[in-house]
Amino acid sequence: MGNTRAEIMDMLLCDTASREMLFESARRLRNENVGDGVYLRGLIEYSNVCRKNCLYCGIRAANNGVARYTLAPQQVFEAARFAYENQYGSIVLQGGEQINESHIAIITNLIAEIKLLSNNELGITLSMGEQTRDTYRRWFEAGAHRYLLRIETSSEELYRRIHPNDGVHSYAARLQALSDLRKTGFQVGTGVMVGLPFQTTENLADDILFMKQLDIDMCGMGPYIVSEHTPLADYASLLENEQWRFEMTLRMIAVLRIMMPDINIAATTALQAIDPRGRLKAIECGANVVMPNISPLDVRANYSLYNNKPLSFDSSVLEQLVMYGQWGDSQHFKKR
Ligand code: SAH
Ligand code: SF4
Repeated sequence: MGNTRAEIMDMLLCDTASREMLFESARRLRNENVGDGVYLRGLIEYSNVCRKNCLYCGIRAANNGVARYTLAPQQVFEAARFAYENQYGSIVLQGGEQINESHIAIITNLIAEIKLLSNNELGITLSMGEQTRDTYRRWFEAGAHRYLLRIETSSEELYRRIHPNDGVHSYAARLQALSDLRKTGFQVGTGVMVGLPFQTTENLADDILFMKQLDIDMCGMGPYIVSEHTPLADYASLLENEQWRFEMTLRMIAVLRIMMPDINIAATTALQAIDPRGRLKAIECGANVVMPNISPLDVRANYSLYNNKPLSFDSSVLEQLVMYGQWGDSQHFKKR
């Protein structure tokens, strides 16, 4: 079902009655393939220092208005201990892209120490941008086992429009990184932003086909949200409204669940930025992972990827669904 671009576009653009059926099938397939529980990953926003200048992102290197921070190891351990003691099962260490040796060595140590302090029990996902194969290997050997790196858009042309043309932001390098991560042994997650300026429904259908073709293990998709003081904000007048971007993200999640029933799909923070019940709605149409922010409170406002980014999430609304104390690895990866 839904294997061609035209069929996917039909699902993305369907009327309200068909939408209910779409969400219903996605939910059923989720329940049959990965269960009806939701897995937690405590999100630690390690640093907003970044060498890149993605045109959409609030913490891009050229943005002088950002108070830059990097967490001290003790702050990371405290957050990890919180995740461990509260049975989160996993953490995600995320941050701007840095490629210098001292950064790489610090992250390697953090990974090893978090494994120790949690008796090897906390699963560790990284989201630290593009690195060399050697760096991926060091981080994998230290104990991280999942990696998130969004392709942002599978259209090379659109990718070029939302990134500077400076040799550091290359679509080919992004693809290479996803392939290197796979070869290193990571469970690989990717994803896209939904509702970017210049993005078409064809692009979105192709994004789904791209993820299917790449045979990914995990996905995180969120609506594009304007970030003031970024170059892409100049095109805000071209955008569909936020409700459309929100709705289209839900549909993307549902269609991806139908096409890849046994992967992990995140209900992302950006959904929550538009609708206070955003993440719950994503779970109701096929998502099975939530990443509550467990960064130290005083740095949260500085990790400002986009406007109105929520600083916290009341996970009590999920209480009945949460699968505590489990890694919640991708079933898709296990079957590989
Ligand atoms: N530096 C790493 C991880 C941090 S950025 C990386 O780029 O992979 C994490 C994600 O935030 C990006 O992949 C991007 O999809 C998302 N993001 C950045 N700016 C955004 C915006 N304005 N609206 C929605 N999502 C955004
Ligand atoms: Fe840096 Fe990631 Fe933002 Fe790009 S999206 S500027 S790599 S933090």
